[in-house]
Amino acid sequence: METKGEEWLRFIDTLSHELKTPLTSIIAAAGLLAEELEATNDESYQKLIQTIIQNSNTLETRLAEILDIVKTGSGKLRLELEPVDMKSLVLGTCMQISPLLRNKQQTLNTDLPESIPIIHGDGQRLEQVLLNLMNNATKFTPEGGNITVRVRKQDTGLVIAVHDDGIGIAKEEQESIFKPYSRLSSDTRRHPGLGLGLALAKQVVELHGGRIWVDSEPGEGSTFSFFIPRQAAKQPT
Ligand code: ADP
Repeated sequence: METKGEEWLRFIDTLSHELKTPLTSIIAAAGLLAEELEATNDESYQKLIQTIIQNSNTLETRLAEILDIVKTGSGKLRLELEPVDMKSLVLGTCMQISPLLRNKQQTLNTDLPESIPIIHGDGQRLEQVLLNLMNNATKFTPEGGNITVRVRKQDTGLVIAVHDDGIGIAKEEQESIFKPYSRLSSDTRRHPGLGLGLALAKQVVELHGGRIWVDSEPGEGSTFSFFIPRQAAKQPT
């Protein structure tokens, strides 16, 4: 017989798939429409379609976050381990985030070693972690701000850091932001979000056998860093 937790997971899983199917069609159709509209040079329509695309993408992310956090609660979040080219992963994530940066006239700097070793991990999940940190960096940094992604090699793995010169986080709040649904009260109205991204990032990094932390000063900015071992930890069966 199914436990309450399993029943809940199945419900959320079904619900998120039911919502995801029409959403995927909306995103695909909006993408095609955006291509058509590019030829018209009509900026007002182009802006409208970009709003549709961005908000549909946000909805898709939120759905995935809800499903993941429920899986985490029931110990069902699993890594799909494979060799991961971290250099392309970092550069690909920077490309993905660039429209958001452009909208806020922010500058993205990268500081990467010439070669980055292939690691054994879950590429999709690691991209999700980096995307969340970069998304937050642009979200909590005013227009015209600077964001830097830095990768450093260590004997046993890599440290990836996302630095911003945004609003920063008070010392007493730096631990709680890694807990699910925790959002700093001043942000809730200004910036949308469920407060799940960092909790999931922590889960994913820790499942790899790594760790995640933040250094921040209010008004000065924040640096979110995570260490990922070259070889992910053995997965629980
Ligand atoms: P959300 O979807 O709300 O952004 P997260 O778990 O990613 O959820 O972040 C939790 C909270 O941590 C945010 O609502 C915000 O208050 C704070 N936070 C995260 N990243 C930053 C950052 N780079 N600068 C300032 N505050 C941040």
